[in-house]
Amino acid sequence: MRKLKQLFENNQEWSERIKAEDPTFFEKLALQQAPEYLWIGCSDSRVPANQLTGLLPGDVFVHRNVANLVMHTDFNCLSVVQYAVEVLKVKHIIVCGHYGCGGVKASMTDEEHGLIDHWLCSLKDLYQRYRKDLLTIESLQSREDALCELNVVEQVANLCRTTIVQHAWKRGQELSVHGWIFGIKDGRLQDLNVCATEKSETPDVYRILQQRILGK
Ligand code: ZN
Repeated sequence: MRKLKQLFENNQEWSERIKAEDPTFFEKLALQQAPEYLWIGCSDSRVPANQLTGLLPGDVFVHRNVANLVMHTDFNCLSVVQYAVEVLKVKHIIVCGHYGCGGVKASMTDEEHGLIDHWLCSLKDLYQRYRKDLLTIESLQSREDALCELNVVEQVANLCRTTIVQHAWKRGQELSVHGWIFGIKDGRLQDLNVCATEKSETPDVYRILQQRILGK
């Protein structure tokens, strides 16, 4: 019980499988990391960055938190973004949300969940900001799905507003910020088409909401 034996056995099999395909894989990996992607996703166990994109260790720098939030007061997330952009020089930042996100669902109710309600405050604000429009969507499921998408767009916009991303663009560094969503039911990623590659492209959450409501 104390040793979690199965996980070590899995690890041994996994490392041997990789070495069978490329005997020098781990030697090369130990020398440096040069990922092209920074992934900002939800902590949900069903949305693992590497597995669902088919990327190997070394390919993607990862930050995950509940409901994939990018907040300007979160030094943890901002430190990851700064290191990824300024040191690793990733070319793409992917904010990836997912349908059925517990954090998003929790932000739509008045129920108390303890400490996490503080974390979800900005998400509750987002819901309140667009509540009237969201309520025009009839089914609760579709409304939750819409907020999951809007949350991604909002976090892409938050990222674009950070001095880290702004300065990168100002000095001409190649950097794109993408908003994706993952469907746990079908295992598929979807691009929300809010990619920003320069300051003027910061996505507009309201525009995306209208598109969704009007079905365009
Ligand atoms: Zn989630």
